[in-house]
Amino acid sequence: MAVTYKSTRNSNETATASEAILKGLAENGGLFVPDSIPALDVDLNDLARMSYQDVAYEVMSRMLTDFTEEELRHCINSAYDKKFDTPVIAPLVKKAGAHYLELFHGSTIAFKDMALSILPYLLVTSAKKNNVKNDIVILTATSGDTGKAALAGFADVPGTKIIVFYPKNGVSPIQEKQMVTQKGDNTSVVGIIGNFDDAQTGVKNMFNDKELATVMDEKGFQFSSANSINIGRLVPQMVYYVYAYTRLVANGEIQAGDKINVVVPTGNFGNILAAYYAKEMGLPIAKFICASNDNKVLYDFFETGVYDRNREFILTTSPSMDILISSNLERLIYRIAGDDAEKNAELMKALTSDGKYEITEDMKNNLAEFYGNYASEAETAETIKKVYESDNYIMDTHTAVAACVYDKYVAATGDQTPTVIASTASPYKFTRSVMEAIDVAYASQSDFELVDELNKLSGVAVPQAIEDIRSAAVLHDTVCDKSEMEATVRSILGL
Ligand SMILES: *Cc1c(COP(=O)(O)O)cnc(C)c1O
Repeated sequence: MAVTYKSTRNSNETATASEAILKGLAENGGLFVPDSIPALDVDLNDLARMSYQDVAYEVMSRMLTDFTEEELRHCINSAYDKKFDTPVIAPLVKKAGAHYLELFHGSTIAFKDMALSILPYLLVTSAKKNNVKNDIVILTATSGDTGKAALAGFADVPGTKIIVFYPKNGVSPIQEKQMVTQKGDNTSVVGIIGNFDDAQTGVKNMFNDKELATVMDEKGFQFSSANSINIGRLVPQMVYYVYAYTRLVANGEIQAGDKINVVVPTGNFGNILAAYYAKEMGLPIAKFICASNDNKVLYDFFETGVYDRNREFILTTSPSMDILISSNLERLIYRIAGDDAEKNAELMKALTSDGKYEITEDMKNNLAEFYGNYASEAETAETIKKVYESDNYIMDTHTAVAACVYDKYVAATGDQTPTVIASTASPYKFTRSVMEAIDVAYASQSDFELVDELNKLSGVAVPQAIEDIRSAAVLHDTVCDKSEMEATVRSILGL
């Protein structure tokens, strides 16, 4: 059965999967959502015997129905290959009472690689299918990890250019170094004086600018997005939840059909939404545990039904979750409103004009599967230290937020359901914060000294991504004000 994609703000705007991937965003700020989610009508025991790539095919072929088998298998096999440092792609590690799904074994050592190593292939295939002649300009706002993963995925891909905006003072030193050393003639990296929400709003405004689109078209360009507003990122992210579940079956931890919980360190709400879609496909998930850092706008939303971004933006040690406007929450709002585009559009309008909205009692009742909580900076650091000491397992700051919130959930509910924690980054990407959490005495050492110390403590080999930037030259040094993003894009593209 063909899946059609619809705008969350206008049910008359529809697209095929490949069209939705090409466009990234629907008109007037809407997001594309599947009109239905097909059942995963494959025996979970059979999936438990399949490779990551074959599970990916089973999941993605049900969602991207205008791709042929040959096209999709080509995309999958090109993405999930030796770029990952393990043939299982996403290992499931049992530690400290939970199952950590390590999503950071790709080339840029954060979970963004899971989707961004395949998005360029999906996009180029979509362009071909739709006879697109323009070059595709990937415009991306990043809170630190999407930028590098997208740059790595799109560098030197013919027919594409990529421009990444990151908050100049809002990413970790290693995240910044990874981005500004990116090679590739088609890549541009720009630091903005502003935060991630400013970067994301600037990018969305350019997407919605009809005049800019016309000028671009005259010069042979069109925009697409590598942010998780693109359905081409969400669909590949559904795969690893199915994969994790079926590994639990394969390892005898659960029986096919048993329920599990998932814990997701959340920023833009893409990763956890992918888990929700996986459940809609039929994966037995009981609870979605949404973990926030001090920017706890989502926790407050789950508590009260009011989404209110009018608050201080806090820079934390988990910068990839420093977000007050969680874009993909809109897709959940649309769903809990009963796929009501009008209702959703009304709430999103209030978010733009007043910075907040409140959902109805009925909508709130549809959120029963979600549990939200948050971890303070001190709790995050304590969790890293505690699990290191108990299990000799060193996790990154984002994963620690999730682990801490999971502990709070278990303490509050006593729920013993087997649980998968999405481990979203390598500790090597946030070395300073991780090492200082273990011992403040590390504060005096340089970033790369700390890399070597982390290697000694954890026994985990230093990833290639870190070796690559030890001595790499800075190739990008553009900085602009948040108000100058469009001018910067025009100058990069020669418009
Ligand atoms: C992007 C990111 C997150 C947040 O994921 P969302 O899909 O934006 O909710 C969490 N942890 C890390 C390390 C990330 O890079």
